[in-house]
Amino acid sequence: MKLPPSMVILERGWLSSNNVLFTGKQRAAIVDTGYCSHQQQTLSLVQHVLKDRPLDAIYNTHLHSDHCGGNHILEQHYPALRTHVPAAEFARVNNWSRMKPTFSATGQHCEEFRAHAAVHPDDLIELGDMEWKALYAPGHHPYSYILFNEQHGILISADALWEKGFGVVFPALDGYGGFKEVRATLDMIDDLAPAIVIPGHGRPFTDVKAALREAYSRIAYLEEDPKRNAQHGIKVLLKFLLMERQRIKLTEVPELLSKVPLVTAANRNYMNYGTIHLAHWVITQLRRAGAAVVDNEFLVDSEPNR
Ligand SMILES: [Zn+2]
Repeated sequence: MKLPPSMVILERGWLSSNNVLFTGKQRAAIVDTGYCSHQQQTLSLVQHVLKDRPLDAIYNTHLHSDHCGGNHILEQHYPALRTHVPAAEFARVNNWSRMKPTFSATGQHCEEFRAHAAVHPDDLIELGDMEWKALYAPGHHPYSYILFNEQHGILISADALWEKGFGVVFPALDGYGGFKEVRATLDMIDDLAPAIVIPGHGRPFTDVKAALREAYSRIAYLEEDPKRNAQHGIKVLLKFLLMERQRIKLTEVPELLSKVPLVTAANRNYMNYGTIHLAHWVITQLRRAGAAVVDNEFLVDSEPNR
């Protein structure tokens, strides 16, 4: 896969999103910054690529904690840098007490950062001396955008399209829909016909047709019974907590889950299990999928390097 020399992909695990670093003549910029517990690593990776040059800009495709958790440390380290967030989130970021609940809804954390500029739909953005168009791509997150460079046919797809599937349709957990939006976003990507996709998680890929086929079949499967998205969402949210903590006492899982508002909403809206039953169900699911193992009285992340 040949990428322009002014862009470097920092492929991360699943706890932190991938970061795309651009070294243009005018400025250095990064798209997405990973999760807060990996922030030191994010800073080291950026410093390793940029050497003595400062980072001038952050662009967050969407404000999920695994995409903006490195903003804080980067803003501290590069005081002149400007952070660009989706326009719909701009005011909320700069009034952190309103932003905070959006992270705690998933049981995740994010250290406070500032937003200096808003990214509007169809904005043209210079990154790495190339022109990128910000295309609004709701579904996984109502205010996410993706970035497309027509000249090279490169799409930075965030969590709208992965090599296998896409991110949880979070709005649906709360009962706000989202499936139609996912489908419309996939249609938009299909129309763009990118040659290379750099997803928010996982390796970059070129067989975009195959990825789209898989994504369309997945959205059809979820739409047929939205409970499937809720169940998947609950599994993903516990897996995230497990990736962050590495091991969780089995007896603490019910209480932990009951403190995650999106888990309780998804359960209430689609499953209605009791607290213990829900914990037992999701632990069994993660073990079956090979995503976790039980070691004595602990649930342990089976893929610690992911
Ligand atoms: Zn996301």
